[in-house]
Amino acid sequence: MKLGSMRDLLINELKDLYSAENQLVKALPRVAKKAATPELQDAINEHLEETRRQVERLEEIFAQLQEKPRGHKCKAMEGLLEEGKEIMQADAEDAVRDAALIAACQRVEHYEIAGYGCARTFAQRLGLDDIVELLEATLEEEKNADLKLTEIAEETINVEAEVAGA
Ligand code: ZN
Ligand code: FE
Ligand code: FE
Ligand code: FE
Repeated sequence: MKLGSMRDLLINELKDLYSAENQLVKALPRVAKKAATPELQDAINEHLEETRRQVERLEEIFAQLQEKPRGHKCKAMEGLLEEGKEIMQADAEDAVRDAALIAACQRVEHYEIAGYGCARTFAQRLGLDDIVELLEATLEEEKNADLKLTEIAEETINVEAEVAGA
């Protein structure tokens, strides 16, 4: 990895996000299927559609930068998804598993929020206004996905998980 300039740093962050988003496009259908609460299933599927558009947005950004998006694997997302798999394979009460899936999904969203927030700020420093706008669009989607998960957890799933197995 070469980090000789802030532009190199931005490209490196973007490659990491591109790998992370692509891993999510592959993994989220299985996560959605595993969710027992219809509201959670819908939220995950909606965010899957957003995630596909986020991949396209990153491709648009790389085209503008005249760079290639490939060549880096996000090991952090690989690890987060590995933990998610453990939850999906657990012998669990439905509501408790859903609460655990939300906790795992929120870790993913927070990782993305950190990545997009930093990439946006680097793009700002570099005066890349069109790219700032694209990154902020995705950043807002990640924040909204996180808020939506909190809402579903607090209003429904945590309430059911609390009494499960009692
Ligand atoms: Zn992501
Ligand atoms: Fe995303
Ligand atoms: Fe990463
Ligand atoms: Fe996300």
